[in-house]
This record gives sequence, structure tokens and C-alpha cells, in this order.
Amino acid sequence: MSEIRHDLMQEYKHFEFIVRIKADLLAKGIRVNQNVGKRKDFNKKQIHPYQHYATLHPVDIPEDLVLYSGSILIPEIIMTKFRYNPDSDWQMDDENGYKLRNDRTGVEIPVEPTPQTGFDQHFIGELPLSSIVQKLGTDVAGVVLSNWCFYFQNNHECRFCEIFPTYQSQKTINKVQKPIEQVVEGLKLAFQIDSHLKHVLITSGNMISYDHTVREYIKIGEGIKELKKKNINFQAILMPPENFLLMDEMRNVGFHRVCMNLEVFDPQLFEIITPGKAAYGYQRLFEALDYASKVFDIAYSSIVYGIQSLSPDLDVTKWDPAKENQKALAGVDGLLEKKIIPLFTVYHTSERNAIGLIRIDGEALFAFTSEYGQKVFSSGIIEESQNSISFDSTSPNDLINDGYSLAKYQKEIADLETFSMDDQKVIRK
Ligand code: SF4
Repeated sequence: MSEIRHDLMQEYKHFEFIVRIKADLLAKGIRVNQNVGKRKDFNKKQIHPYQHYATLHPVDIPEDLVLYSGSILIPEIIMTKFRYNPDSDWQMDDENGYKLRNDRTGVEIPVEPTPQTGFDQHFIGELPLSSIVQKLGTDVAGVVLSNWCFYFQNNHECRFCEIFPTYQSQKTINKVQKPIEQVVEGLKLAFQIDSHLKHVLITSGNMISYDHTVREYIKIGEGIKELKKKNINFQAILMPPENFLLMDEMRNVGFHRVCMNLEVFDPQLFEIITPGKAAYGYQRLFEALDYASKVFDIAYSSIVYGIQSLSPDLDVTKWDPAKENQKALAGVDGLLEKKIIPLFTVYHTSERNAIGLIRIDGEALFAFTSEYGQKVFSSGIIEESQNSISFDSTSPNDLINDGYSLAKYQKEIADLETFSMDDQKVIRK
């Protein structure tokens, strides 16, 4: 038993090291050597809701990178979104294989980009499939239904949001809202050509109204009924409807999970950073989440790590990683108390929003991730049979499942220690 524990401990140390690197990569981004685009053997990065930096990468870069591809003892995958930043310490290179190297620390690890999808060689009408459906990680088909959100109409957009300005400058499709028929056709085609897909994730800006947006999601659900027979997990990120009964309709057409994002936990800061959502109502959002947790058995809400501790004037020069962790963890506790699963994304900007650049601290983000994982794991809200918080082990743009895995394997190591102590007692007897 102690030998297994020793091996697991060793593997865990490596796993933890890679999660630490992932936190640093999401915080600081990656620059790229010119030779990386040459082989063209990877899923090419698309600009879907956001760009991650003010300038665009000079060569094709991968959408996602695999940093850890699982072992017998820890069968998890760690992937990261490629957040391009020409000023990062981290550089991706291709020298007898793809690598990431940190010029400041000298750390170097091999990486594997996710493979080509072929989504840009298949068409829905005139449009390449890649402009309608994006492959995220290894098994998620993502759709951004609308790059327009009605909050932009009256300057009520979330202060971190860049969905519409990014669309305006980096259009890959003429219509800001994708026609439902094209989305349905696109999803069917994506699942036909890619047998690895297991999840559909729909996200969108608010369209004409909250209820209208939900009805559009419902139409997609109805359109892909046949896909759902294949055991596909169907998830939605959206603002709740005014009419909560529409959530029952979402469930009826096959949505398994909904994520209704609070974005900012502190109620005062919520008013400042998310004025559109504040007009919907902080309390009303919680009522909607409570309703969703009855309809879907579980409800998710995400906060943006990096902006929870901003001062009311949103002055980023006062940003402090310790304060951020304290405020973000208070948000995690607050959501768990209400039996809502907290998720988080890591703040980034292409300098098209009202907040601007925050230099996220990778070490602080890692510390937050570990505590976050412990809190969610020990809350008992996630069933033991569920191996991760969301999707499977592939969540490249955040660290939610990585934090959860850290907590899960720490518990496994502790259990093995208890077993081996019990064994020793039996032997002594
Ligand atoms: S709800 Fe906020 S974050 Fe979402 S699209 Fe609208 S402005 Fe952007």
C-alpha cells in the first residue's frame, strides 16, 4: 500500500507542477516562434467571443494545448487555451516537437496541440463550419449564437466584456446573430465529421430580450434532437429568462445544464461592473439560479477571477493578488452556501473594454485554484460518481476541473495513508 501511495504522491507532484504552469499560462499568455505555424497540424485558433490580447498573432497558433495527457495513476487531461501575448515569458516553439519554454525560469515542457478539425474545409452554405461551430478542447462543440448583446445599446454592457467590439474588428461571419438553421446544420455536421465530440456548449450575448434569447436556445435544442440520442451532453451559458417556466422548456428539449453567470459576487461591485445584470437584479439572478437547480438538479454560476477585488473606480493600478484571492474565495463560499456550483474564468482583455489590462499573478491564481477545488470538492454538491465539475477533464480556458482534481487526488493520497496506518496496526496486533 505504501508503495502505491509513494507512486501516487510522485505523480501528484508532477500533476500539481503542470497545473501551476497552466495557471501561469492563463495569467500571462504565450508568445510564439514563427516556425510554429509551419506544420499546420493543429486545430487553428479562432476568434470566437474574445481575443486575448490587443494585437493578433503573426502566425497560425493552436486553439488549445495539451500539457498533461493522463497516466495510470492520474487519468486526467490538463489543457490550456492558447492566450497569445507577445510580451509573455512563455514561448511556444517547434524544435523536434512542440514545446513551451519560460525564458525567465528556464522551465521547458513538451506540449501537444489539439489536432486539426477540418471545420474550415466543410461548409454550411457559403460559410466554413469553423465560423459557426468551434471545437474547444478535445470534445466540446461550442457555438456563440450572438456576438451582439442588448446591454451595448444603452452602455449597460459588463465592463469586462469585449464580445461586440471584438466581433466588429475581427468578423468571421457577416451576421452578428447566427441563424438558428445554420447553427443546427453546423452542429449536425460537426458531430458527423468528428467522432470525439461529446458536448455541445451554447453561449450568447442577450438578443432582443432575455426570453427571446432562451427561445432561440430552445429552437436549437429542438433542431438537434437526433444528436441527443447519442448521449451528448448539452449545456447552455445565458442570462435567465424573465419567465422562469422557459427553463422547464429548455430541460424538455434536452439541455442538461445551465450556467447563469453572476460574474461579480460582491453586490456593490456587481452594480458597477455589470450594470445590465444589475438592472435584471442581483436577488432575481439568485432566484433564477434556485429555480434552475430544481429544474436541472444542479445550477452553475461563474465569476471572473481578477476583477472581484477592484475598487469602485475600477482602478487596475491598485490591483492586489492577495485581496483578489480573498474576495474571489468569498464568492466561491457564497455560491456554495446557496448550493450553486461556482465556476470561474480568468480575466483577460484585448483592451476593448472599460477595465483594461490587469497583470494577473500566476502563483496567486494557482493558490486560488487549489483552495477553490478543495471548497467545491468538500461541499459534497458534486456527486462522487461525477469525475469533474464541468465537462470531463477538458476545460482549457479555466482551472475549475484542475482545482477539483488536485483536491480529489489529495484525498486519495490521504485515504491511502489511513489504510496503510490501519494495516500497520493489524500487523502489530
Ligand atoms: S451579458 Fe455581459 S458578458 Fe454577456 S454578452 Fe452581455 S455584456 Fe457581455
